Amino acid sequence: MKSELSTWYDRVTRSACFVCRIVEGRPLFPNPRIVYEDDSVIAFLNQFPSQEGYTIVCPKRHDERFEMDLSLEEWAHLQRVVRDLARAVADATGAMRMYIASLGSPERNAHLHIHVCPCPAGTPFEKQQFAAMDLRGGQALLTLSDARLDELAGSIRQAMPA
Ligand SMILES: [Zn+2]
Repeated sequence: MKSELSTWYDRVTRSACFVCRIVEGRPLFPNPRIVYEDDSVIAFLNQFPSQEGYTIVCPKRHDERFEMDLSLEEWAHLQRVVRDLARAVADATGAMRMYIASLGSPERNAHLHIHVCPCPAGTPFEKQQFAAMDLRGGQALLTLSDARLDELAGSIRQAMPA
């Protein structure tokens, strides 16, 4: 059975592109905490994280498929930002491992976005890898205070290379 949160989330994310709305400065969910931005790439804290420091990295243009829509140069640039951010998140959180994934669906969250997910030090084996990223329909969602989210975003920004 679906949780109330996932039903609401499904409805909102079907109605508009959550990434384009952040790029346009009209986010679907308040205060996306942008941790990196340049002419073509934007990155922000996952607003529904399973881990502290879980970050999403996207091309600003509404591309949907990394293997079709991006030039090799655009993909390489995006991956450079992913690498730098993964280091910054590891720095900010003390993660023992960093995971990346490109998920999404034509039906919702179609805008290409790379998940950059820390696996905290001391995580037991059965809670690593896919389990570390899995929200299981909203069941494992972390509830972080605004102050903690601001602190994490600040640490990640500070750890990014100039
Ligand atoms: Zn979009």
